[in-house]
Amino acid sequence: MQPVSQLYNQLHTPKNSTIVMHQKPDGDAMGSSLGLYHFLQQLGHNVTVISPTNWASFLSWMPGCSIVLNFEQQQDNIKALEVLQATEWLFCLDFNVLHRTKNMESILLQLPCTKILIDHHQQPAIEQFQFGISNTAKSSTCEMVYDFIMASGYENKINTIVAQCLYTGVMTDTGAFRFSTTTASVHRMVAHLKEKEINHTAIHEFIFENFLENRLRFLGYVLLHKLVISYEYNTALMAISKAEILEYNIQTGDTEGIVNYAFGIKGIKLCALIVEREGEIRCSFRSKNDFDVNVFARKYFNGGGHQNAAGGVSNDSLVITVDRFWKAIEENALQLREV
Ligand code: 5GP
Ligand code: MN
Repeated sequence: MQPVSQLYNQLHTPKNSTIVMHQKPDGDAMGSSLGLYHFLQQLGHNVTVISPTNWASFLSWMPGCSIVLNFEQQQDNIKALEVLQATEWLFCLDFNVLHRTKNMESILLQLPCTKILIDHHQQPAIEQFQFGISNTAKSSTCEMVYDFIMASGYENKINTIVAQCLYTGVMTDTGAFRFSTTTASVHRMVAHLKEKEINHTAIHEFIFENFLENRLRFLGYVLLHKLVISYEYNTALMAISKAEILEYNIQTGDTEGIVNYAFGIKGIKLCALIVEREGEIRCSFRSKNDFDVNVFARKYFNGGGHQNAAGGVSNDSLVITVDRFWKAIEENALQLREV
């Protein structure tokens, strides 16, 4: 994988450029993809953004979101396949391995185009990309897209809409500027974005105060009835069945953030949310300090992510998955018991 700096002097030559993000994109995946989209468009590129799946409705306000293709929707899928065949540059944003693009993986692997990675997850499959930048110290892919634009000499292309998109991802991926990845550079970047006249209060409202009543009721139900705490292992688990998801009419994005609530309890070092979805079980893991959930998710749940935030999958039933989770916790008892 060659450094992305080698592309800087080619940026002014318009190309068919496609941007792909990970399945069930979050604020950072969508924000970085749309930020890059609005940047490349200003340089005359013919740009298309594709999401492997649908996304949370609280992202739909973002400028350009309405033209993002959903690969799982029939009409969009036909268009996306056409676009991919003609693409010259394929930007892969906010994921480290192509299987994070779900059904797109086999198609992307076969494309003869130039593949460019911009990502901050651990252990990227760099052999799958000709160019790229992978930096696990970065707060967000949005910060990396910002760096890419600035370092390529196009600071003047950071307008209000680019700034809105990039702000969204850096804000969501840093837990609203709270996690340890929130460096002085992040704050300098945000100051710069703020100078582009973004309304940051409105963005926080769009993201965090944009749910329907059922989601809040569901949260209450989960905290009251589904939260299991092991004080011995400083671990909290919420496991939710498909029936419960249906009962509360929970949609994509509605479970985001719920895993963090258990950190409100003193001493908790590891929080897990296990959700039974259509056809598979998705796991979210969050940790404090040294406990590495990227390693944990990789070892036990075929997943990955970052040291303190990772995800994974399980093909077992919910009951067996929960059982496997507690067995995995016991295996890590030494580290989890430490205060
Ligand atoms: P979440 O729990 O919010 O779905 O994901 C937490 C972090 O882990 C995100 O950065 C996400 O991209 C990453 N992640 C989630 N699921 C997986 C997975 O199955 N594989 C890998 N490699 N990363 C994941
Ligand atoms: Mn990210």
